[in-house]
Amino acid sequence: MRRERRPIVVVGGGVAGLVTAHAAAPAPVRLLCRAHDGSGSASALAQGGIAAAIEPHDSTAAHAGDTIEAGARHNDATAVQWLTGEAPGTIAWLQQQGVRFDRGVDDSLQLGREGGHGAARIVHAGGDATGAALVRALRARVQSSAHVQWRGGVDVDALLLRDGAVVGVRTCDERGRRQHMEAAAVVLATGGIGALFAHTSNPVGADGAGLALGLASGAASRDLEFMQFHPTALDVHGHCLPLITEALRGAGARLLDAAGQPLMRGLHPLGDLAPRDVVARRVWQMQREGGKVWLDATA
Ligand SMILES: Cc1cc2nc3c(=O)[nH]c(=O)nc-3n(C[C@H](O)[C@H](O)[C@H](O)COP(=O)(O)OP(=O)(O)OC[C@H]3O[C@@H](n4cnc5c(N)ncnc54)[C@H](O)[C@@H]3O)c2cc1C
Repeated sequence: MRRERRPIVVVGGGVAGLVTAHAAAPAPVRLLCRAHDGSGSASALAQGGIAAAIEPHDSTAAHAGDTIEAGARHNDATAVQWLTGEAPGTIAWLQQQGVRFDRGVDDSLQLGREGGHGAARIVHAGGDATGAALVRALRARVQSSAHVQWRGGVDVDALLLRDGAVVGVRTCDERGRRQHMEAAAVVLATGGIGALFAHTSNPVGADGAGLALGLASGAASRDLEFMQFHPTALDVHGHCLPLITEALRGAGARLLDAAGQPLMRGLHPLGDLAPRDVVARRVWQMQREGGKVWLDATA
């Protein structure tokens, strides 16, 4: 049998692309991304942390239950069970890859609380620099792996098709030079589409390029209506707004209206820590009515 020599092409240097490249071993991988240093991804900006039921009084069943509630019971239950069940092991795996999560004085992992969670179960690294720590460790791991060839500074601007199947990608480098690259398989790990909105906490590169490439090549799409709106960002001028981590509300910060009244009073049993869509909708409603929303973190 002829040995398959074409690489798997992974497009994207965020967490999804890095983990896919790692998992593909020993198959040869070519990882392509726009930045040379892994910047420009949402992954590098992620703040508050990662949810996992690792506290002794917590359980993956409770985590799954909270997730189903936060999803207004609209979730794919099998996916929720898998995700919450895998989370503690994934935290352990990330630590093996070199991610150093923040620890308390007793050396146990520090756990924060965020919206929709009934327990403190968010691990974080470097305070609110969790994503940067993850990307740093995973990138070092991937770049030192013999099966991965890393190429930054390229934009994938087309998928190559033969007989209706994807057989590679077309890249465009910083000088505008185009190149065709054959692939055994192509993985589009190109992140989200948040930058298409008037205001966003996403990087400008979250422009939906991967989604557009897939759709243009006839890929089926699913669940595109699910868009996460983070409830709190700093209200500055410009397209990209600095996100204010939900961990602040987890540690006691309150959402107030201009009169100093609690914004979430009577709206949800979890109050300021209601699921993100509930809080984001309330903030949006207040702004539509011409009101201001404040986050009081003095406590
Ligand atoms: C400010 C902020 C805070 C967040 N905080 C948290 C948090 O606390 N906890 C949490 O779980 N999640 C958080 N998130 C969400 C989380 O960061 C994302 O869900 C996750 O990082 C997505 O990873 P990804 O690899 O799919 O995409 P990304 O990390 O966005 O990576 C996409 C990659 O694809 C590349 N790319 C895109 N198009 C092309 C192209 N055409 N050619 C070549 N390369 C291309 C980009 O350059 C980038 O390298 C946060 C997001 C933001 C923006």
